[in-house]
Amino acid sequence: MALEFDLIENFFKPLSLGLSEDEVGIGDDGAVMSAPEGHQLVVVTDTLVAGVHFPVATSAYDIAWKALAVNLSDLAAMGATPAFFSLALTLPENDTDWLKGFSKGLKDLSHRFKIPLIGGDTTKGPLTITVTANGWVPFREAILRSGAKVGDWVCVTNTVGDGALGLKVALDNLPESMFISDLSQEEKKFALNALNRPMPQLAISQDLLGRVNSAIDISDGLLADLGHILQQSSAKSYGTHGASQKTMLGADIELTELPLSSGVTKYLELTDDWSLPLAGGDDYQLCLTLDEARFSGLKALLAKQQVCLTKVGKINDQGLVSCFERGVLRLGDADLQSGYSHF
Ligand code: ADP
Ligand code: MG
Repeated sequence: MALEFDLIENFFKPLSLGLSEDEVGIGDDGAVMSAPEGHQLVVVTDTLVAGVHFPVATSAYDIAWKALAVNLSDLAAMGATPAFFSLALTLPENDTDWLKGFSKGLKDLSHRFKIPLIGGDTTKGPLTITVTANGWVPFREAILRSGAKVGDWVCVTNTVGDGALGLKVALDNLPESMFISDLSQEEKKFALNALNRPMPQLAISQDLLGRVNSAIDISDGLLADLGHILQQSSAKSYGTHGASQKTMLGADIELTELPLSSGVTKYLELTDDWSLPLAGGDDYQLCLTLDEARFSGLKALLAKQQVCLTKVGKINDQGLVSCFERGVLRLGDADLQSGYSHF
């Protein structure tokens, strides 16, 4: 791309901060990074395509924020400490104002978690952003999707459904039974902020190590992502009759326990549409499973970082997901298979 050198120097090299003397960041054929002893590298990649992963009208700042945030969210779910990231950027044109906003968004989030940009690639084409983020975990301590056990409590951080509500607000796409004026200014702002500036749960990723059995970040909706935990944990879990006896894990979810913001609560009162908090996506909160005995200790630990941990259900050995409303079955596995999730 024309002027690629200037573009990198002006907008991206300033984000390559905090490397040690032994390390090499932006400018050479590759970056050279040192690895802390006794740790493993966790590598995550996510691509955002304009019009697919964010509305085309999204600001450059928010696009950059989100592109990095969704990757850091994956690192948080693995229990990793963020280390460095790279950026592959495909741009339709060399627009200085856009690049200013974009690099500012990237800078603000990367500085917050002290994670340097160490390289990337820049090409011309339809707007597409790929971030690869890297983090460290102590040897064999990474938190996996496959660790859930029968009887585990299923928990989520903070609130769910806000990103999906934000998307409906941004696209002016609320159901007929609801008007945009039903939401207060603060509720709209909260939902839009959840959509555009998700905060990866990195402040608590260290607290999870050794305390939870499995974790996933909620990007495709609680049920779909919990489904990944169930699927992968079933594949790893064996019954009492030997290794050939596979336990199919499921979960019982109590809908009234779901932690909801006031905007999402209002949405549910007016629409009764549970698919928003269950299958909406774009939450970037964490779904965790853990031994019951660990719950109150972890909840207290996360509260110190202003993160709320809520129990929403329990892992069963029936291979089915059921959602109850005050103990009465509201959505059975068949309902959930047809439209509430995509597993
Ligand atoms: P090469 O031709 O070897 O691929 P480039 O000209 O693509 O080199 O990149 C030059 C340097 O700038 C490399 O260190 C590369 O990592 C870095 N770089 C290129 N694009 C970006 C970007 N979007 N963000 C950060 N660093 C970048
Ligand atoms: Mg290149």
